Amino acid sequence: MAKFKIIRLILGDQLNAEHSWFKTKDPDVLYIIAELHQEQEYVKHHIQKICAFFKSMENFVLGLSKADHHVLHLNLNDTKEFSSLSDLLISLSERFNSSQIQYQRPDEYRLKVQLESLEGKLKNENKGIEVTQFDTEHFILPFDEIPSYFNANKHVRMENFYRKMRQRFNILMEGAEPLGGQWNYDSDNRKSFKKDDLKSIPQPLLFSNNVADILKRIEHHQIEHFGKAESALLWPCSPQQARELLEYFCKICLSNFGNFQDAITENSQHSWSLYHSRISFALNTKMLHPLDVIDTAIEHFHASKGIISLSQIEGFVRQILGWREYVRGMYWINMPDISNSNALNAQQKLPKWFWDGNTKMKCLQQAISQSLEFAYAHHIQRLMLIGNFSLLAGLQPDEVDAWYLGIYIDAIEWVELPNTRGMALSADGGLIATKPYAASGNYINKMSDHCKTCHYSVKEKTGELACPFNSLYWHFLDRHKEQFLKNPRMAFPYKSWQKMDGSKQTALLHQAEHYLNNLDSL
Ligand code: FAD
Ligand code: SF4
Repeated sequence: MAKFKIIRLILGDQLNAEHSWFKTKDPDVLYIIAELHQEQEYVKHHIQKICAFFKSMENFVLGLSKADHHVLHLNLNDTKEFSSLSDLLISLSERFNSSQIQYQRPDEYRLKVQLESLEGKLKNENKGIEVTQFDTEHFILPFDEIPSYFNANKHVRMENFYRKMRQRFNILMEGAEPLGGQWNYDSDNRKSFKKDDLKSIPQPLLFSNNVADILKRIEHHQIEHFGKAESALLWPCSPQQARELLEYFCKICLSNFGNFQDAITENSQHSWSLYHSRISFALNTKMLHPLDVIDTAIEHFHASKGIISLSQIEGFVRQILGWREYVRGMYWINMPDISNSNALNAQQKLPKWFWDGNTKMKCLQQAISQSLEFAYAHHIQRLMLIGNFSLLAGLQPDEVDAWYLGIYIDAIEWVELPNTRGMALSADGGLIATKPYAASGNYINKMSDHCKTCHYSVKEKTGELACPFNSLYWHFLDRHKEQFLKNPRMAFPYKSWQKMDGSKQTALLHQAEHYLNNLDSL
């Protein structure tokens, strides 16, 4: 049996081929990459998500082997006897007679705790094995600096954080000023699709990764899952594919990214992808580096001779340099408390149609069916359709969290949780969003074309065909007066509610209660 002084663990979302670990070849180092049962079991995942991780890990192993690194790839068959990651690592260190276990800092609290406790366990047992943690070298803001930008239990404005990041990393700046004189072009980025716009929505770049063996393995080990998967997987599963997707986005979609960022339609063959980049899986598995993504997009902006406007590139940079880094900071500074938060005491169970898309509400039927088909929904579907409904209906945050964490191709807790608990559900008591993202049918009608073909009528607030979002919206405001009445950003809707005739209010509340008691049949 070969001996390796050092075992280096690579988790499924640490596929960063540019990491300094790989700059030199060390005959004493064995890289370990493993399909772990525990990672399939902490939540029920969409099958495409499992396939995409396993396939990308497989390709990463191929890359390391080609570069002559020693690497051990363990699949579900090899790891079935290990109930935890720690057990596996201890067993491997014995097998290879290793005196050191090294790992990159996990992005999930759950795994960080596990690996740190392994260190303690090995020390207590006096095994003489040294455990060392390394940085992933992925994020733009160094991990140790998170406390300089964020405070536990305190709201931090994303916009302030984003401006500091622009200045610090000199991105889209002209000296000390933002390029073009304005920090934020969000107000230009709120278009909905008109009839003529629909014809030019680009087709998405899809891949065809063979996952037939992976599907068989999942079946064989009876890994619980949901959603659909073909043996050809469309998601990028290698750094080359990830880069191709990024280039495609910059060439084809970036010039309209900001314009239609918040728009939703059901009237295009490409309604599910629109002008979105779909690079989140590649980014979150670290096949793409965020600074590389930003630099590439900015190069395209400069080379486009005005075809990509400043508001489009700024809108995109804000997502990566702003939102993505921001939610990661908010996650780490507020864990583990944020993961148990339920500030609005929401207790409703998830309606059963979250699992099959079978609801009469057209907007949710489309967003959920699409999520089940592609393991993907774009931001505004996640926030203003599914998230908004979950907020208004008072769905229990643990259940909503588990659903989001399972269904989306890019879902990893550090990014999923602050978005779900914070942005969508306001369960964090206002740490992330200073006002709830609550909206009635009117907003959905403005941003989408779903209402035209819906069973319900968006204009009606009460009665059999009344759009559920309408009465649920007012019910939400009424039942959370205590939390939001004094919030200046909520003054306008509360004023409208208070001005409303008492009998109208009663009718709305009755209507909403009827819906809340019958969520499964909406
Ligand atoms: P684009 O629209 O093309 O945006 C470009 C990139 O910006 C994304 O790839 C992503 O890396 C980044 N980005 C944009 N918005 C956010 C944001 N709010 N937080 C973090 N990064 C952002 N994103 C995840 O990566 N994983 C999740 O599990 C996840 N769960 C979410 C849950 C809810 C309730 C909400 C409202 C949002 C969630 N997001 C999540 C953020 C966002 O919706 C996705 O990043 C985006 O839809 C991914 O698609 P895209 O790559 O086409 O993004
Ligand atoms: Fe959604 Fe209401 Fe519009 Fe139907 S009418 S699509 S439920 S917003």
